[in-house]
Amino acid sequence: MIYFDNAATTKPCSEAVEAVMKGLELFGNPSSLHGMGVEAECLINRARSSIAGSLGAADEEIYFTSCATESSNTAIFGIARTIGKRKKRIVTTSVEHPSVQVCCDELEKQGFEIVRVTPGEDGKISAEDIIAAVNDNTCLVSCMLVNNETGRILPVEKAFRAIKRRFPQTVTHCDCVQGYLKIPVKVKKLYADIISLSGHKIHAPKGIGAMYIKKGVRVPAFMYGGGQEKGFRSGTECVPLICGFGAAAEKYADTIGERFEKAAALRNYLFEKCGENGIHVNSDTECSPYISSIAVDGYKSEVLLHFLEQRGIYVSSGSACSKGKKSSVIREFGIAEKYQDSTLRVSFSEENTAQEIDSLIEALKSARQKLCGTR
Ligand code: PLP
Repeated sequence: MIYFDNAATTKPCSEAVEAVMKGLELFGNPSSLHGMGVEAECLINRARSSIAGSLGAADEEIYFTSCATESSNTAIFGIARTIGKRKKRIVTTSVEHPSVQVCCDELEKQGFEIVRVTPGEDGKISAEDIIAAVNDNTCLVSCMLVNNETGRILPVEKAFRAIKRRFPQTVTHCDCVQGYLKIPVKVKKLYADIISLSGHKIHAPKGIGAMYIKKGVRVPAFMYGGGQEKGFRSGTECVPLICGFGAAAEKYADTIGERFEKAAALRNYLFEKCGENGIHVNSDTECSPYISSIAVDGYKSEVLLHFLEQRGIYVSSGSACSKGKKSSVIREFGIAEKYQDSTLRVSFSEENTAQEIDSLIEALKSARQKLCGTR
């Protein structure tokens, strides 16, 4: 099997699996006052520290959630319920993941003014456009760090720094799901008040996410009950998954640079091979090396995806969330219409090799010979 769909989800690493098992074995309820409870609480604290350390945050600034979608929903609707009572403008981009886009669509129906900054002709979102969209009436700016369909890196640091200087009361939120532990993410440098993270994109299990909330920033609770997570998110903590997330963060936090280099070398090789074989590349070398968008002109993505799958090669057409629906994000990035329907996303982990890229290219060449194109 050749797995090139790491932006959809990653294989849990052995350290995460072991940590999950430990969390299952030490099954006490972290809220129990006896020793078993304390033991479980210690496991949570260790995971929290690992994630906080990887971001340069304080332990108390990390909250566990069920996934990044929950983190972003909590952030966006929470700020809308507080500062949004007085300030009705939200600035975001037109290329966000649905977990942010759909929240903004909902708030628009409720009377919020949503400003969606679009990429320029060069396919890039400009920091200046984001900054210019913010005014005194803006409660929230939400901008992702790495786009999940093209790998485009957005100028979050530059935009947020200027926004926090001019409008310190405006809350900045960043969906860091595709950037976390792949490119350096430090909370102080990013100027984000709130960050959304997901475990399953970094070799931890599915069903676990986290939120960084800067000390002093008030986000109301999303779930009420027993008061877990300092009253922010009630419900008995999922200790095994939290342990898995913490173990993956611990494993990968110190190797971001070397893994980035390896992914960049693989990505450059992919681009070179695509160039030699007439396969169009939608991304470029300024994008995250972990995610590349390519297109085989004249062949539908879904047909290619299944052709590759029959040969044991797993890629994605657009993002896993779009489930075959035409991606508005690809269109937003200004990718030529003739490539929009033939786009494939190839996303790497550190386990991928150049030989696997050779196999992908050979399979795409064979697809061109064997399949009927659309032209
Ligand atoms: N944000 C981005 C950029 C993503 O790529 C994804 C998942 O594909 C999410 C958010 C949602 O993450 P989760 O599955 O943890 O809800």
